[in-house]
Amino acid sequence: MGKIALVTGASKGIGAQIARTLARDGFDIWLNYCSSDTEAQIVKKEIEAAGKSCVLLKFDVASALEVGKVLMPLLDNQIPFVVVNNAGFRKDTLLVWMKEKEWQDVINVTLNGFFNISKSILPFMLKKREGRIINIASASAHFAIPGQSNYSAAKAGLLGATRSLAIEIAKKNVLVNAISPGFIDTGMLEGLPKEQILATIPLGRFGKPEDVAELVSFLASEKSGYITGQVFQVNGGICT
Ligand code: NAP
Repeated sequence: MGKIALVTGASKGIGAQIARTLARDGFDIWLNYCSSDTEAQIVKKEIEAAGKSCVLLKFDVASALEVGKVLMPLLDNQIPFVVVNNAGFRKDTLLVWMKEKEWQDVINVTLNGFFNISKSILPFMLKKREGRIINIASASAHFAIPGQSNYSAAKAGLLGATRSLAIEIAKKNVLVNAISPGFIDTGMLEGLPKEQILATIPLGRFGKPEDVAELVSFLASEKSGYITGQVFQVNGGICT
């Protein structure tokens, strides 16, 4: 039986590319998504065409109930070696106008998502004394972007959780790291002032999902066995 990678929020964008890349590396994929059925089916077919299996897991990572219902029966038989907590979204607005739901939803998908997924799988990883948890944070965790107090708080919180969890479980050989992407060309950039942003990126281009996925590939590999509790920025050289 091959090694499994669970990637959350993998129906499109960065998560879809992480799933394709880990499949290329030899992992069978558990592909989580929330609503984009057609896109998820397309990624599944691509992964299967590349010779790996792909199980679609449709649930909201922010719901402990949904996560448990879908994951627990699977975990009776197989344990992922890699978990990539990637699911996330923005709901930008100035704090003074922000509705409680806009605050809660953004916090919940990132922080409760991390908690629900990691908590379900961690006991099994600890028992096996192996595993990798890779959290996708954001440049917003490092520098100020107006209108993103909810998103910045969620992503900065995820970095704190990454560092704490890493030292809690290092002795069990389960490694926990985070990646903070800069501006990556996916649907998430819609509505942002792209020309203005481009002028601030030293490498002079937006990132591609591949730029993030290749670092995930390294962190999921045997080559990164001495790295834990770290945050890596993939942002084209933006100083933070
Ligand atoms: P994207 O293209 O909008 O994709 C987001 C993915 O997350 C989709 O697959 C979506 O699934 C899934 N998702 C959203 N809410 C979910 C939930 N509650 N439960 C499960 N899945 C959920 O965004 P992206 O740019 O690839 O972003 C991926 C991650 O990178 C996010 O955490 C984001 O914060 C982070 N990031 C992105 C950038 C960037 O510039 N793009 C920069 C920094 C950080 P459905 O469509 O099926 O609902």
